[in-house]
Amino acid sequence: MTTPDLSTSDSFEQALEFARAALQGMTTHSIAPTPENFLVWYTHIAGRNPNLSHMISILADNNQEITNSISRDIHDRFFTTSVEDDALHETAERINEELKHIIEYMDKAGGDVTKYGETLHTVEGELSSGGEPVGLGEVIAKVLTETRKMEDINNKLEQKLTDSTSEVSQLREDLEDMRRETLTDALTGISNRKMFDMELRRAARDAMENGSDLSLLMIDIDFFKKFNDTFGHQVGDEVLKLLAGTLAKTVKGTDIPVRYGGEEFAVILPSTNLDGAYSVGEAIRTRISTKKLINRQTNTSLGKITVSVGISQFDYGERISDFIRRADQALYTAKKLGRNRVISQIDMEKDALSFD
Ligand code: GH3
Ligand code: MG
Ligand code: MG
Repeated sequence: MTTPDLSTSDSFEQALEFARAALQGMTTHSIAPTPENFLVWYTHIAGRNPNLSHMISILADNNQEITNSISRDIHDRFFTTSVEDDALHETAERINEELKHIIEYMDKAGGDVTKYGETLHTVEGELSSGGEPVGLGEVIAKVLTETRKMEDINNKLEQKLTDSTSEVSQLREDLEDMRRETLTDALTGISNRKMFDMELRRAARDAMENGSDLSLLMIDIDFFKKFNDTFGHQVGDEVLKLLAGTLAKTVKGTDIPVRYGGEEFAVILPSTNLDGAYSVGEAIRTRISTKKLINRQTNTSLGKITVSVGISQFDYGERISDFIRRADQALYTAKKLGRNRVISQIDMEKDALSFD
């Protein structure tokens, strides 16, 4: 776990001033002075993290009250690292170490070359000084010895550089594998729930920083238990792969399709409002419901499958869990209304208003 460094070069008086102002700010917003919240406020007041301060000012500009829970959320977004992050960090450190070694070898080689040059220079001096006559054989032997030494050093250096280079590329591959494995769903090959959590946080932060829209689709296969019971779990798995492939093909650009878990999928839609998200949801729903499923091995029809879709749009500053919950509620409503349909949070808000 990386610990943020609070002490960076603030004098005692300066730090005290920031700490007082941070506490003052927290008191004004009725935020509990926990270490996590304090870290957020101190960082903000001291101007240590422009992105964090920018997010706080966007919240203020949107008249969004900075509550205790929002402060905690900001802390999680900016200061927590996962076990995987630590593993990645460690591998990156090892790459750095290896690069440092390479630089050290190069430095040493530079020194050896200088020494070699000096030896040649001395020999040249001895030859041309006109003083004591030096035996030519002796001079040649001296130059040869130094040249061999230099050759030896060069060979060793070359070997070390080759070793270091392959070590670095191996580490880089490990890093890539680690990332892929921890963030990809093994069955379908699209992003998994872990990636979803990371990407949704990042998307929410980007939306707040840029003042852009962000929507979310939650997708659940209809009556999938029955499908499994009828055709078997393995055929069910094939359908999940097919659906993941359809999702990946239907969405584009910065959209992120995810297997949320079991037979549930999600799509993160940056720069997209509810209308746009509805179109994407409908495109997915239609594409799936019009596909005829055929078991190629037995050449038998498996009928069709349908999906229900729930949509929500991000409100700046709200907790990520609330953003997801609204899409989940819309999905639940889509199921209740008969399945094979797309319902957005707006539909539910409309339903909530009625004349008695
Ligand atoms: P609903 O329309 O209400 O969503 O009905 P449902 O049957 O799809 O929902 P329910 O939650 O009752 O059952 C989900 C089923 O999805 C249970 C299980 O058979 C199936 N399922 C979940 N994960 C997997 C998986 O990884 N592979 C396969 N083949 N089936 C799965
Ligand atoms: Mg389900
Ligand atoms: Mg289902």
